[in-house]
Amino acid sequence: MSQQQFENFTASSLYCDKCKTAMPVRERLLLILPDKEVYDYLCTGCASSVGQREVTAGEKLMAQNMAARRPRRRAAAPTPAQRLPI
Ligand SMILES: [Zn+2]
Repeated sequence: MSQQQFENFTASSLYCDKCKTAMPVRERLLLILPDKEVYDYLCTGCASSVGQREVTAGEKLMAQNMAARRPRRRAAAPTPAQRLPI
């Protein structure tokens, strides 16, 4: 379940200058700051950096909220039949 959320959040492939094509990338945590985290994207073909992404504390919170909301919504909708006394 958590893997699905992660996929939405990360780029699966980016254009690589060295490979001259879009390559699958690996995400690497580069830097942790008090208010944000910086991720580095490495080409899986030549291991060169093809991009970076910053995740601010606000974005992380939003993602966490959205992630928490999804399963909760399902749980909050039980089958109505169970509530019938008969
Ligand atoms: Zn490459």
